[in-house]
Amino acid sequence: MQSRFSLNLGKPFGIKVSVHWTFSLLIVWIIFITVNQGLEPVQILMHILFVLALFACVLLHEFGHSLTAIKLGGKVQSITLLPIGGMANISEMPEKPKDEFIVSAAGPLVNIIIAVILWLYLTFISSADLAELEYGVITTNNFLVMLLAANLFIVAFNLIPAFPMDGGRLFRSALSVYMSKLKATRIAKDIGQIFAIVFIFAGFFLNPFLIVIGFFIFLGARGEYEMMKYRDILNNFTVKDIVKTDYEELDENESLGTAAEKLMHISNRGFVIKSGGEYAGILTKNDLIKGLNVYGKEGSIKEVVNENIEKVNPGMTLFDVFKKMQMNRYDIVPVLDNDKFKGILDLESINEFFLIQNATR
Ligand SMILES: [Zn+2]
Repeated sequence: MQSRFSLNLGKPFGIKVSVHWTFSLLIVWIIFITVNQGLEPVQILMHILFVLALFACVLLHEFGHSLTAIKLGGKVQSITLLPIGGMANISEMPEKPKDEFIVSAAGPLVNIIIAVILWLYLTFISSADLAELEYGVITTNNFLVMLLAANLFIVAFNLIPAFPMDGGRLFRSALSVYMSKLKATRIAKDIGQIFAIVFIFAGFFLNPFLIVIGFFIFLGARGEYEMMKYRDILNNFTVKDIVKTDYEELDENESLGTAAEKLMHISNRGFVIKSGGEYAGILTKNDLIKGLNVYGKEGSIKEVVNENIEKVNPGMTLFDVFKKMQMNRYDIVPVLDNDKFKGILDLESINEFFLIQNATR
């Protein structure tokens, strides 16, 4: 969910934190609702502050997952805040069921800790009488109580045993102790989808928002199972098994026009660019078209060649490469063995390979 339209909040612990642009829609919606209720500007501001405080808790929740994953040997690239919640982009998840369980539990645990701290403060330090408070709108008096309740809601919601919620992962990792991860995921997916259907039906009678959540769970469950099928097959193969050696190559001093002309006759996603016979980078179709826009046909390949596309080595498992390519949106990556160029790998051929293996097993 990384997008150009995200607001960057910095990189604490090496994790890129950003707010997705759709988040602004949530704020607009809050303003719309509160203005419609005829609230005072101060009260409207209170509601906005509340949403921001809530999302600060969501962010801490994601940090709970992320820092635990890193502690257990995983890698986390980014955290994105969306109107529906936070999303930690964990590129390498600890594989052991026990570790997955701990990482999944760490998020909701953060919200439980926040709730306990708020409860302690409200009970022992703050002088407000909770029974006397009104809860129709958010005010300075009930702000913390509402935040406590919201944190408990986050915990309850996340413990629903369905993907993509934490509960789905907790459930899967518990099942994985007794069966293969693929089978555990299938069961977790089926149960998640039953929940989803119940949510969608209930949404028609109770709250339309449940319909949205239902679809979200339904697709999340399917996505997770698909990913696990890929993992189950692609983990058994390495880059070496399907590296492509019939790539098209061009010299960096050739023109973009030459590349464009050649592109008409090949099925590849891009070219391997060489400089003095040595590997120098990849020219993707997209970069070629962008380059033609800027430099025209006479422009040199040198101007647009991507030297920074992540290199993969022949020993890497296909699943690791697949994840990396999906995450970084690469269609094509160069394969290098100790700086020696071996060929290319493209997403399309990994997909084809998966489909063939999946159909014949
Ligand atoms: Zn979570």
